[in-house]
Amino acid sequence: MGIYIHIPFCAARCIYCDFNTYIDLDHLKTGYVDAAQREIEMVGGALNRPPAQTIFFGGGTPTALAPEHLARLIDACRRVFDLSPTAEITVEANPGSVSAEGLRALRAAGVNRLSFGVQSFDDATLRFLGRIHSADEARQAVDEARRAGFDNINLDLIYGLPRQSLAEWQATLEAALALEPAHLSLYALIVEPGTPLQRSIERGDIPPPDDDEAAAQYEWTLERLARAGYTQYEISNWALAQPGDDRTPRLASQHNLIYWRNQFYVGIGAGAHSYVRGVRYANVRHPQTYMRAVMREQTPDDLPAPALDPATRDPIDVALAQSEQMMLGLRLVREGVSAAQFAQRFGATLEARFGATIDALLARGLLMWDGDRLHLTRRGLLLANQVMAAFLPD
Ligand code: SF4
Repeated sequence: MGIYIHIPFCAARCIYCDFNTYIDLDHLKTGYVDAAQREIEMVGGALNRPPAQTIFFGGGTPTALAPEHLARLIDACRRVFDLSPTAEITVEANPGSVSAEGLRALRAAGVNRLSFGVQSFDDATLRFLGRIHSADEARQAVDEARRAGFDNINLDLIYGLPRQSLAEWQATLEAALALEPAHLSLYALIVEPGTPLQRSIERGDIPPPDDDEAAAQYEWTLERLARAGYTQYEISNWALAQPGDDRTPRLASQHNLIYWRNQFYVGIGAGAHSYVRGVRYANVRHPQTYMRAVMREQTPDDLPAPALDPATRDPIDVALAQSEQMMLGLRLVREGVSAAQFAQRFGATLEARFGATIDALLARGLLMWDGDRLHLTRRGLLLANQVMAAFLPD
């Protein structure tokens, strides 16, 4: 099981962001940490101290909290979950809100993976996106993280931006490679409804992202990262390969693998999502509502969820779980979906459940078998949305 902890505070709002985060609630931070600690205790208790392999602080901006606050939440997890001694503990970090001292404190608290939201190494682009840091500050943050003892460092970057040329994206990726991060997460920009970005595009102030340009950037990225010694293990994620084995990542994101393998996780904090006992659900979104809900100390009979938003309760039936197994598993470009594991989990064969769909995708050259594992071909990778859509439940 993985533990996700949501920290819904940011210093400023990026123009593309639709995450559950707030720039005017800093006065709630201490009370929020108290509530999150209480929720961890209640959830761990209700699940009888379940084994956990990962903790992931996401946001928002987890580094908007003092390191002592994050340390307190990690300690609470250790007390009420059976946390593996080798657990991966990740903090998403904004290069504009970290210090050498803060990074050392996080390392001392047991954090062993940092995921920096860098997004671009071009200062004009960073300003356009509303980021609070410069490219140099990102470089400095990575440097300080290394000096604080972090080896497992991810950089998040966005490509497919409006007016972004291939050459501009290449310059950003080359700047990232110069830092030799263990891991890279590269996402095509999505224009989310209700964001300042979407409104600017609607008004005609800026052009929409160009899908063909984004596809060209992605294709170039596939080649470039392979040459740089990175192995792609998920559609948007690469890690430096093991020495002598260019197919196996040295440091894949263990927490995200839990999602892609369709395994259970608990979400702590405002709006956090959980998948427990075959039910997916989310907490109430607003931090203040969340804090009040947790402090009432009541959980539903069937779910360890003191801040449950009842409207989000979504029991996952077998047909949906099978579809999700395909759509998530195929994102893992090398691992794919194991026929044996599918049969073991669902008591039904891949052939019986999806035989016709798989045959059609094999015939179109979008999927291939590698022993027992079904995975995307190179062409399937470029048309992944079409492949995933084929497995949607009726
Ligand atoms: S820092 Fe991240 S969570 Fe905060 S506004 Fe920007 S994109 Fe959203």
